[in-house]
Amino acid sequence: MSKKWKENFIRVNPYKAGEQPKSGGAIKLNANENPYPPAPGVAALLRAVDADGLRRYPQADGADLCRALADAHGLDPSSVFVANGSDEVLALAFRAFFNSKKPVLFPDVTYSFYPVWCELFGISHLRIALDEDFRIRAEDYAGENGGVVIANPNAPTGIALPLSDIERIASSNAESVVIVDEAYVDFGARSAVELTARHENLLVTQTFSKGRALAGLRLGMAFGHADLIAVLGAVKNSFNSYPVDSVAAAAGVASIADEAYFAERRARVIATRERVAAALRDMGFSMTDSAANFLFVTHAKADASALFEYLKERGILVRHFALPRIERHLRVTVGTDEEMDRLLEAVSDFLRKGRQNAV
Ligand SMILES: *Cc1c(COP(=O)(O)O)cnc(C)c1O
Repeated sequence: MSKKWKENFIRVNPYKAGEQPKSGGAIKLNANENPYPPAPGVAALLRAVDADGLRRYPQADGADLCRALADAHGLDPSSVFVANGSDEVLALAFRAFFNSKKPVLFPDVTYSFYPVWCELFGISHLRIALDEDFRIRAEDYAGENGGVVIANPNAPTGIALPLSDIERIASSNAESVVIVDEAYVDFGARSAVELTARHENLLVTQTFSKGRALAGLRLGMAFGHADLIAVLGAVKNSFNSYPVDSVAAAAGVASIADEAYFAERRARVIATRERVAAALRDMGFSMTDSAANFLFVTHAKADASALFEYLKERGILVRHFALPRIERHLRVTVGTDEEMDRLLEAVSDFLRKGRQNAV
């Protein structure tokens, strides 16, 4: 039988997330998840959920959650958008704002979902090379384009751009939308949300998945001029009729309500990151200056994919990208201190073994 109908299939090369092991026991340092639980108020809220309320559809526009986020940032709710994870926010934003024939610009080494959305939506795009030290040069994003998307801090490098560079990129692109993906902003970078008041073409996206330890709940948000937010809402309501669910929205509000818990856990992750960075440097690793909840490391004498496999055998999952420029690097999420001690022990065993084999 002819399979001619298959000729009409879309051809996509989907994003591949870090693996989620089915059995417990692994030390999971491969998806930049938070090692600590979400704010206690989230658990309390979930325990108190009244299942009867689930008969009703959720608020179409996540209004309560938008208001809580707007209050937390001193913004008007018309400047806030929420969706099911920032991946959904970003996909909607690509669809909403990148409709020029000119290419959308993003770095050659960055979040690997950007080219996936461009291909899915037929958006022409151009990868701009980071410099030798994996830094974004703001001046490289001033040419003609149909939009710009920058992760800040960048992934998987963890390097943060100063706000002055973000402002420079926003103001040199008065004719296109500039998206700043702040998935990791909680771990040390300065947020560009304050710039959205001055730059109407700037959209800042954030997530509850990393800093707020709610990856399983699927909540993300965007901040920007009310005109940008209105178009995002129109696109969302044109093909995705599923707003943020009512339980997730309420849990998001509970998370935002506990700033003290958030700040304390964030400080722990940052302290662990700095301790582990120093220990890995002592073992001969070099790394970018990470302002995120992961380290991006390389070792002149260790093969990254061999180390990746060795760690996996020892029950420690990290991320290796077999991609140009970064195939000698590993991305290691910052876990608890105990998890990171196990990692350091395994890495040290690997290096010792390598030395024995070499002689
Ligand atoms: C994790 C991540 C996201 C998406 O997070 P969600 O869980 O979909 O909110 C977006 N951008 C970058 C750079 C990320 O690392």
